[in-house]
Amino acid sequence: MLARNARSSFSNSFRRLPRHQRYSPRHDVRLQSRSLATVASTSSDDSDLVSFYDQPATRHSSSSHTGLFGSYALHSPDSFHDLTLATLVRAHLLTERIIRARNDRDELLKVVKNMDRLSDMLCSVIDLAELIRNAHPDQEWVESANQAYEQLCEFMNVLNTHVGLYEVLRDVMLDPTVTKTLGREAYQTALIFWRDFEKSGVNLPPEQRDRFVSLSSEILVLGRQFLNEASSARPPATIKHSELKGLKDQGLGSRLQWQSRFTQLLVYPGSLQAQMIMRSAPAEEPRRKVYVASNSSSPQQVELLEALLRARGQLAELVGSPSFAHMALGDKMAKSPENVNQFLNTLLDHTRPHARRALRTLSTRKQAHLNTKPFPVIQAWDRDYYCPPEPPAPPIPLPPLTIGTCFKALSRLFRHLYGVSLRPADISAQEVWHNDVRKLEVVDEKDGLLGWIYTDLYARSGKSSGAAHYTVQCSRRTDDDDEAGDLEPPESHRELVQVSRAFEAGNRYRMPDGTFKLPIVVLLTEFSRPSAARGPSILEWHEVLTLFHEMGHAMHSMIGRTEYQNVSGTRCATDFVELPSILMEHFLTSPTVLSLFSSADDSAARQVGNHHEDPCHNIDTYGQILLAVLDQIYHSPVATQPNFNSTAALAQLHTTRGLIPYVEGTSWQTQFGHLFGYGATYYSYLFDRAIASRVWRKLFAKDPLNREMGERFRQEILRHGGGAGPVVDDRIAPERARVGERRCGGDARGRAMADRGRGGDTRKALTSTYYQ
Ligand SMILES: [Zn+2]
Repeated sequence: MLARNARSSFSNSFRRLPRHQRYSPRHDVRLQSRSLATVASTSSDDSDLVSFYDQPATRHSSSSHTGLFGSYALHSPDSFHDLTLATLVRAHLLTERIIRARNDRDELLKVVKNMDRLSDMLCSVIDLAELIRNAHPDQEWVESANQAYEQLCEFMNVLNTHVGLYEVLRDVMLDPTVTKTLGREAYQTALIFWRDFEKSGVNLPPEQRDRFVSLSSEILVLGRQFLNEASSARPPATIKHSELKGLKDQGLGSRLQWQSRFTQLLVYPGSLQAQMIMRSAPAEEPRRKVYVASNSSSPQQVELLEALLRARGQLAELVGSPSFAHMALGDKMAKSPENVNQFLNTLLDHTRPHARRALRTLSTRKQAHLNTKPFPVIQAWDRDYYCPPEPPAPPIPLPPLTIGTCFKALSRLFRHLYGVSLRPADISAQEVWHNDVRKLEVVDEKDGLLGWIYTDLYARSGKSSGAAHYTVQCSRRTDDDDEAGDLEPPESHRELVQVSRAFEAGNRYRMPDGTFKLPIVVLLTEFSRPSAARGPSILEWHEVLTLFHEMGHAMHSMIGRTEYQNVSGTRCATDFVELPSILMEHFLTSPTVLSLFSSADDSAARQVGNHHEDPCHNIDTYGQILLAVLDQIYHSPVATQPNFNSTAALAQLHTTRGLIPYVEGTSWQTQFGHLFGYGATYYSYLFDRAIASRVWRKLFAKDPLNREMGERFRQEILRHGGGAGPVVDDRIAPERARVGERRCGGDARGRAMADRGRGGDTRKALTSTYYQ
């Protein structure tokens, strides 16, 4: 498919075109291409990043006639609306051109390129809309972005199931004289389109195709309902005064104890009171009650999940897959549920002894506390009490971690590894959606400008929560576009179409190997805002980890410059996309890397680390692996069997493979929201974590700033973005070699990679599934 999966009914977008357009041709001619000579040399010191972020004074350039991201087509919500319509007109024309290629051999040779252009034409506006609706403070902009998103996704959905497009591509793929003209990247792009079309049921007979479309819509509706229910409040636990005796917490705990003298306390799952009780109540009973309440479900909530899983199973059967997991994994690195289960089993075996040891420590604490016989059983509600989770801390003392200090360290790290630096860039006031936004140029010492990263780092109301990396523009080669061969729009739309052409023409650069559109990404985080009184924001260690993680995604986008946008940067399979970002977290365990946070980049100042790990960390990891196993079970053939019972499956998993007893009457699975978004790929994070650990050990652990190793990682992994064929040999990532060809360009394409939610699940798991 052309990168979007959203399904909704067809509507002819042409009908929505307004009769009058307001575009003046003088705005149509934009930077056709800019020479790299305009890029200054790489900064030798990154200390200017410190003042750029820590002394808030926006550097505005004086350019006028511009809009968001420097594009005049985005100067107002209305202009965004016009851009959407212009894009639709051009996309219709390009679709028509591709369909006609069946009768013209020359055109057949251009089909893959044109399909990639079509995908890019739509994605570049959809991706923008996705960012704007999550970040723009102005409601008018948000509404225009929502509209753009809906209209373009609707059309994308039509293309994803377009029989005519599929048939042209089939002609291309079945004709060896055509396929042999495709380069490796082009062939991989074609393969991605081909597989995604087939996954959309486009090759089915009409009756089954209709069923496919209706099941897909049903899944979308059930999924949304499931997500709503997953985050809905669970009923409170009733706690008596006598049960709160000896609360360790002197603040909130004392108030609760006082209140409970007059009335029975209603403690709501997820509330501060509930968390405090789990950590501080010496008696087991109140913790048990809060745990059970937190993990309860209504019969309707359980049925909703089971209906979703059933519909997914039926969809898979329709296209001839034994299960939804089989269908979802065919184009992932892992390839099949068998490989995923084998991986998860190995991981469970590896983690079990460490988790058992940690549980034994907890058991010793419980024995001493309750004066029981040796080794009492650790129950689900005991973890937080006997081993309160600790916030992560840096392994060595560091200077105050201002945002500027962190970006300086990041730039130094990238320069050591890849010869790439981050450089403050000027912005015009119209270029950004909020005053908080800063722009960085990413500059390679040999190749010059690689792309731009806009950072929007502070929390504010209306902005989406959590941390996320948004791809706003993908790299793509443009000098061989053959726009001259595009169909001419009708007279009435000629002026309008210029809006989309002008929008596309921006940000193109001549390179030795052609003219390219360069990548633009945006990082959203919700760090605390600096103030005149307190000075620059100082990040907690977990926030530094988040920033490094997100910058791992950003650098993947910057370095993964490909000729085809469908395989550029982070447009790759869900079980590969987290590898570069998780690897960045490893760098923060090294004292050598941490010395880059100091004011001088002086190796003599490097300190010896005293890194220690939370002893209960392995219990949590074990719980995460069980969640991934549960995700596989729920998407296996059992989900369509008439006697399928998700609660019984959960209980059985914990009875047979869990380390903490399942608690009768609980059904946490109805809160496992990632079951919808990840659907059979929840293992991805663990998978990438395993590969990242190996890459770290093999390439970087001994000498983390080694340029040769950095270059190897860049050339063998990052440079290919989501394209096929990076040569990853056994020494770097045997897991990857074992599972065979990597297939990128799947689910992560065109989607903001929100890292929010993982943390949420970890917390949930701490108080629930980890113990069952
Ligand atoms: Zn991530």
